Amino acid sequence: MTTVEEPLPFNLDLDVPRVIPGRGRNEWRRAGCARGSCGRIAAAIRRFGVRVLLLWSSTVTCAPAVGGAGIGTGSPPTVETHIQPWPGVARAAVSITFDDAYPSHAEVAAPMLEDHGFRGTFYLIVDKLFQRGKYRRSPSASIETWQAAARRGHEMGSHTMTHEPLDELTYDQARTELHDSREALENLFVGMDVVSLAYPFSRTDALVRDVTAGIYTSGRLGPPPEGAVPHNDPLQLDLLKLESMFLCTGDSPAYWNEAVERAVQEQGWLIETLHAMDEDGFCRISAVDFAAHLAHLSSLADQIWVAPVSDVVRRLEHWRNQTIEAMPRSDWRVDLVWQGPPPAASDWQITVHIAPVDDWRIVDEDGRQLPVRRRHGAMHFTWPARQDRVILETDRESTGVESGSWGRMKQCTQAAAARRYGSCEASACW
Ligand SMILES: [Zn+2]
Repeated sequence: MTTVEEPLPFNLDLDVPRVIPGRGRNEWRRAGCARGSCGRIAAAIRRFGVRVLLLWSSTVTCAPAVGGAGIGTGSPPTVETHIQPWPGVARAAVSITFDDAYPSHAEVAAPMLEDHGFRGTFYLIVDKLFQRGKYRRSPSASIETWQAAARRGHEMGSHTMTHEPLDELTYDQARTELHDSREALENLFVGMDVVSLAYPFSRTDALVRDVTAGIYTSGRLGPPPEGAVPHNDPLQLDLLKLESMFLCTGDSPAYWNEAVERAVQEQGWLIETLHAMDEDGFCRISAVDFAAHLAHLSSLADQIWVAPVSDVVRRLEHWRNQTIEAMPRSDWRVDLVWQGPPPAASDWQITVHIAPVDDWRIVDEDGRQLPVRRRHGAMHFTWPARQDRVILETDRESTGVESGSWGRMKQCTQAAAARRYGSCEASACW
């Protein structure tokens, strides 16, 4: 029996409603194991050596399958399917964001990003764009320069009208800052939905987030307090409390690069925040250092997805709503059925846990075998575009399942459909 090759997820207690603001839904889909089931799962892992990877999946199908570890043991193994959040084979997302509308952002940084095929998110202070109020003498790039950058694919987000700390304002004042800045920016950047907010001074509270949720799809903070490392876990993050890493004076590109590598290891979403670059201002860095960092990001092109904040949010919202159901067809075939409209593009990576992994293959409905990578005891493949099912199959003679197993499987797939992973009895599940 194989042993657990990777550490268990650090937090199995995933049954927490999460809020997606602004899109008419008020709850993240529940994923992972229900409260109280974790002990049973952990016990099952110890007992049968079945690997469980809950953290990065939007689907956990708790379904005993056939063959493999079940042969001669009377204990059918499981098949688990996981949809990975990031497109292609990317293992992490990186967003490069800019606060406070410094001139260098539109004039220097945006073209630098483009040299690598990247696009950034620029959080703009509306009063600074128009050089009014307390920003009468603060330089920014010309409106036309910002508009040109937007036309080249960069995202323009809001950093409010006046950059006042929102948690010190009344409800109406905060709402005006958030609403009017979105409206002003959408008038400047015609055709763009301004859906991303960065809180001035990283300050927010429940009331501010409540207002934000009605206007934006995300709210970005700075680094977490006390030197903690920013961490946005796709399964657990709160879109209104996105954490970011400030690229600042005194840091070296090596330090920033390490954060990217950590995000890859954690399969998370790293948001970077820049301020002044080769100009007076907060957290000033040099364009030379930034160029070195961009070159490093480019070198990780096969591991990271660099995208504006709103693109990542959209992807996560989509991912949260995808599920795959495992449906038995015979002792040696299990249909994996995409629930809902099948994906339009081949950019969803699927991980299948089934043992023994080498005995199984995946074919499409026409019987064509799909390319599969086997790593760490799991199968990884790309879901074919516009297909609503693929078939997990093995050679008939290699199965040795007992006839009663299908009844148990049915019970478990129903449990999975109800998002109650682990609610089926441990004896049936495992
Ligand atoms: Zn700011």
